[in-house]
Amino acid sequence: MYETDVPTASYASAVSAVRGTAATAAITAEQCDEAHRSAAIIVGYAVDEGSEVLHTVQFPSRPEAQSCEFFVKTGYCKFAADCCFHHPAEHAVQLTAMDLPFRPGQAVCPFYLKTNQCKFGPPCKFHHPHLKPIYAGSAAAEAAATGV
Ligand SMILES: [Zn+2]
Ligand SMILES: [Zn+2]
Repeated sequence: MYETDVPTASYASAVSAVRGTAATAAITAEQCDEAHRSAAIIVGYAVDEGSEVLHTVQFPSRPEAQSCEFFVKTGYCKFAADCCFHHPAEHAVQLTAMDLPFRPGQAVCPFYLKTNQCKFGPPCKFHHPHLKPIYAGSAAAEAAATGV
C-alpha cells in the first residue's frame, strides 16, 4: 500500500487537503519548491567592510639567518615554525577568520569575491575582506542587476 511511504500523519492530511481543493487553485509542488529555493540562492557577494576579525601567525625570528624569500614576498610561510630562515615581523600579513590574507592596499581577490573562497590561501596576493552574501530577489541583488 502506498500509505506506508507517507512519513507523517500531518503530511498525509496536508496531501489530502490539497487533493480536496480544485486542481487550478492549488500551487504545484514545483512552484512551491522553486519559491523556497530562490529565497536561499546566493547570487554574489558584497564587501562587508569593518567586520573582519584578523589575526597574525607567528613565524620564527632568526635574525642571524637569511630572510625567508617566500615570507618577504607574501607575508606568509607554509613551513611556519619549521622554516630555518628569518621572518621579519614587518612583512607578516594579517589573516582573516578564514585564514586568507587581509591586504587593504590590494585589489579584492576576484575568485574570492565570486565564491567567498580562495584556493590560494594565505599566500594569495589579493585582498580578502569580509563578504556578505547577496540573495536572489533581495534589494541588493536588484541593485546589482540594474547597476544602480
Ligand atoms: Zn619561511
Ligand atoms: Zn585570493
